Amino acid sequence: MKRRPPIAEVFSQGDELVLGQIADTNAAWLSGELVSLGFDVSRHTTVGDQLEALTAALREIAGRADCCVCTGGLGPTQDDLTAQAVSQAFGLELAFDPEAFRQIEACFTARGQPMPAVNRKQALLPSGSQRLDNLWGTAPGFSLRWARCRFYFLPGVPGEMQAMFERWIRPDLPRIFSTQPRRRVSFRTLGIGESALQELIAPLPVPAEVAVGFRATPSEVQLKLLFPAAFDPTSQAEVIGQYRKVLEKWTYCVEGVGEAEGELADLAGLQLLSGGQRLSLAESTTGGELARLCGQRRWLPLALTFSDTATLLEHFALDATASGSEGGTEALAIEAASRLRRSTAVDYGLVQVEDSRTDGRVRLHSALCGPDGSHAESRSLQGNPERLRMVAAAHALDFLRRHLAASRDGS
Ligand code: ATP
Ligand code: MG
Repeated sequence: MKRRPPIAEVFSQGDELVLGQIADTNAAWLSGELVSLGFDVSRHTTVGDQLEALTAALREIAGRADCCVCTGGLGPTQDDLTAQAVSQAFGLELAFDPEAFRQIEACFTARGQPMPAVNRKQALLPSGSQRLDNLWGTAPGFSLRWARCRFYFLPGVPGEMQAMFERWIRPDLPRIFSTQPRRRVSFRTLGIGESALQELIAPLPVPAEVAVGFRATPSEVQLKLLFPAAFDPTSQAEVIGQYRKVLEKWTYCVEGVGEAEGELADLAGLQLLSGGQRLSLAESTTGGELARLCGQRRWLPLALTFSDTATLLEHFALDATASGSEGGTEALAIEAASRLRRSTAVDYGLVQVEDSRTDGRVRLHSALCGPDGSHAESRSLQGNPERLRMVAAAHALDFLRRHLAASRDGS
C-alpha cells in the first residue's frame, strides 16, 4: 500500500511579519525545501510576539503535524518569546545550557565585544530539547519532539536560518522520516509572458502525477515540473524533453537536470571566468540595475551608470544627434562598446542604450565588443519604468550570455 508523505508545517513568529513590515521569506524557502524532500506541507502559521498566542499555536501544531520548522524569536530581547512559549505549551522547564552560553560568549569575544547580560537568556533551553549550534550568529536553536511532532526552532535571520537548516535539519530528517524526495525541474524563461507560455505547453501530454507550476517576476517566468519520487526515469526524461523542445527559444537555463544553473550573471560569468576574461559595462535605461545584477563579480572591473543615453554617448565622445542617421543608435552603441573596451583594457565592452520613448514604449540597443568582433541586438519593450529597468537589464545579460556561448561553440 502506498504510504502518505509525512505532514510538515512552518511556524513563523514576530510582530514584523504580522504587521506587514517584512515578508515571510523564511516560510517560502523552508516550504520549497520540505516539499523537495518529500513532505506534504499543509500549513504556514504566523504569530506576533504574544506569549499566549504562540503557546496555543504550538499546542495545535503538536497535535496535527509530523514535523514543524519554526523561525524567529530566539534573540535576547523581550519580544523574543519562543523558548518561553515552548516551555509554557509543553510544561518544560527552561534550563541553563552551559555549552550554549559558552558559544554565545565566544561569538562576542570573536567580535571584540563584551557580552551584554541580556544574552544569557539565549542559553536557556527547554529541558529535554537538543541544542542546535549556531555557528553563524548568537542565537542557538533547539529541537524536540512533542506529541506526534518533531519541532525544530531556528533563528529568524534568513542567512542563519538557512545555514542551520542545511547543517542540522537536512541530515536529521532522513533519520526520523521515511520520505521520497521529489524531483523538481525548472525552465527559466525570458521574453515570454505567463499566458503565452501556458498556451505553448497546453497541448503537451503531461501525466496527471506531474505537478506543473509557474512563477513570474517582472523579468522572467519560471515553469516548474515536480515529479513524484516513484515516477519512471525514462518517462521523466521524455516529459522534460518535450518541454525543452517547446520552450527552447525562450529558455536561458534548465534547473534540476545537471546542467549549469544560476542567475543570468552567473551563467555569463562562468563563461568569462573559464576563459580568464573580463568585461566592463555601461548602462543608461537600467539605472544601475545591470550593475546590481552582476554584483561584485571578479570578471567585472567596471560598471558605469548614466542618467540617460545622451549622457552615456557624450561620455564616449559620441554625438547623440547622429542616431537619426543610417544604422542610427545601434551603430553608436557598438562604437561606445568598442571605446569602453579599449579605454578600460578588458576583453569585452557591453553597452545598452535606448531610442527616445513614446507612450512607455522604448527601443533598446545592446552592443557587445570583444575579441571576436562586435555584435548588437535591438528590441522594443513596453511597461512602467520599474518594469522596463528590470526587463532591459535581463535582456542585456541574456544577450551577453548567448554571444559568449556562441563564440565558445564557434571557437
Ligand atoms: P535575533 O537574535 O536577530 O533577534 P531571532 O531568532 O530572535 O534572532 P527575530 O528577532 O525574530 O529572530 O528576527 C530577526 C530578523 O530576521 C528580523 O528582524 C527580520 O529581518 C528577519 N526575519 C525574521 N523572521 C523572518 C521571516 N520569517 N522571513 C524573513 N525574514 C525574517
Ligand atoms: Mg529577535
